[in-house]
Amino acid sequence: MGNGQNWDGVTTADTMKLPTTMRAWVLGDPDELTLVDKPLPAPERAEALVRIDAVAICATDLEVISYGTPAVVEGGKPFNKNWTPGHEYMGTIAALGPGVDEFEIGDRVTVEIHAGCGQCKRCRAGMYTSCHNYGLNYGDKNKGHRANGFTSQGGFAEYAINNINTMIKVPDHMSDEEATLVVTAGTSMYGMTELGGLISGESMVVIGPGPIGLLAVAVAKSLGASPVILVGTRENRNEIGRQLGADYVIDGRKEDVVARVMEITGKGADYVMDCAGNETTVNDAVHMTNRGGKVCLAAFPKNPVNFDLGYLAVNNIYLYGTRGEGKSATHRAMAFMAAGRFDASVIHTHTFPLDSLPEALRYARERVDDAIKVVVSMRGKGNATGDKS
Ligand SMILES: [Zn+2]
Ligand SMILES: [Zn+2]
Repeated sequence: MGNGQNWDGVTTADTMKLPTTMRAWVLGDPDELTLVDKPLPAPERAEALVRIDAVAICATDLEVISYGTPAVVEGGKPFNKNWTPGHEYMGTIAALGPGVDEFEIGDRVTVEIHAGCGQCKRCRAGMYTSCHNYGLNYGDKNKGHRANGFTSQGGFAEYAINNINTMIKVPDHMSDEEATLVVTAGTSMYGMTELGGLISGESMVVIGPGPIGLLAVAVAKSLGASPVILVGTRENRNEIGRQLGADYVIDGRKEDVVARVMEITGKGADYVMDCAGNETTVNDAVHMTNRGGKVCLAAFPKNPVNFDLGYLAVNNIYLYGTRGEGKSATHRAMAFMAAGRFDASVIHTHTFPLDSLPEALRYARERVDDAIKVVVSMRGKGNATGDKS
């Protein structure tokens, strides 16, 4: 689970002095987090030890901390297992596992969440977020699965272990905080990868201006989709969608969403990404799609929804479900962000130090002060009131 203590063959450097213990938040009972000292974990083959410099809070962290799912630790819920959540982090490589020469100590990296197991049918096809061995990394069920902050140790800590395939170098000009957002953009990119990728000149609707939806607008625009249409209900977030490249924004509270998409596109949208995932948005998504068009469901509806399946079949509409950030989509997202194709940092609203994680989580959960992305920074930025500077 990333707790190894075998330092034989591990490369370290005088430039990165390593402590023997690290501070880490661990999950006790639901919603109970405690800051403790843990032994520094040693990287194994194909792994590196990352000193975490910043970690963003995701809605899924809030779910894991309260309900456990979708985290699976030692075959069950993650409570009271000395386990650390957190998955959207970046940092600096502090030690290299045996045989690792793909990175150097001191490299700044941002990380994908899922390494998968690397051996099942889905991992072999690059669909490591749909690994058949999810959560199997313990005892006699050890298939080596890794998904940091879900099945292996996460990033609300000073250090974490990462597989080399999950790390992407961060350019010097990119801030720590912005680099934590690459995996969110990677999740948006994965949806578009599954939709076919070649969306330039095609119309794209994104429903739901949460972090993934807002960055889906940015990624769609960067891929050349035209027009890019955002559907949302909160004006402050819709405005950020405009900044990220939405050609049209539809206010779901004031307008007939499907009629408006038809008006803009003529025959319906070629592609739709539903990043809200409720009964209304799923049905809107299908009804606003052009014949032969494609819908990606990038959110997880909590309950079964009543859904116009007949309309989908009669109109030859394709439906895709995507989970997380597969097929190296995060690397492609970084290429856009490194080139400055969009400024993901406009969704970053608040910064806290590691000690203030519970307050940071409260800002994210209650959307205090219109919080969108709340980042915990280890490098001296941020204060207990969540100031952005
Ligand atoms: Zn996340
Ligand atoms: Zn697998």
